[in-house]
Amino acid sequence: MPKYSSNNPERSRIRVTREPLRDVYVPVYAGEYTVAECAGRDKYIIDGKEYDECAFCRASCPSRDLFKEPDSGLPLKCDMCEGEDEPLCVKWCHADALIYEEREVDVDVADVQEGEVEVGLESLINRHGIEKVADIVAQISKASKR
Ligand code: SF4
Ligand code: SF4
Repeated sequence: MPKYSSNNPERSRIRVTREPLRDVYVPVYAGEYTVAECAGRDKYIIDGKEYDECAFCRASCPSRDLFKEPDSGLPLKCDMCEGEDEPLCVKWCHADALIYEEREVDVDVADVQEGEVEVGLESLINRHGIEKVADIVAQISKASKR
């Protein structure tokens, strides 16, 4: 297991909607953080079975506990196990429910990284208040200059 990892379903960045009798598995892996619930929720009925409005959404959203670190409340996002040869959920899924395929998509890396810092800070501020977060940033900044 990689450093800083743990075996805890509450921290999982993936959920699989399963219909094992029909051999259907739909992975939903954690995507972007969102500050508010969306207005355009859809109900899904597939082959007569009704699924929850948010069942296939990847957002870390205030409407649910999914894709949030249980202790800090920080949003969790799948990074495809960056640095590993293959995603570990694919590697360790003994039911072979997951398949990893690469597709080319144009993404501005600078924008993504900047957005991630903002999301993390915003979440901490919402949880602990701006003064507490500012105090801690000042302490860390002071310590790093010593
Ligand atoms: S989880 Fe997704 S679909 Fe559900 S309210 Fe949040 S953003 Fe909308
Ligand atoms: S690819 Fe890695 S980070 Fe993403 S859900 Fe699977 S194990 Fe978690």
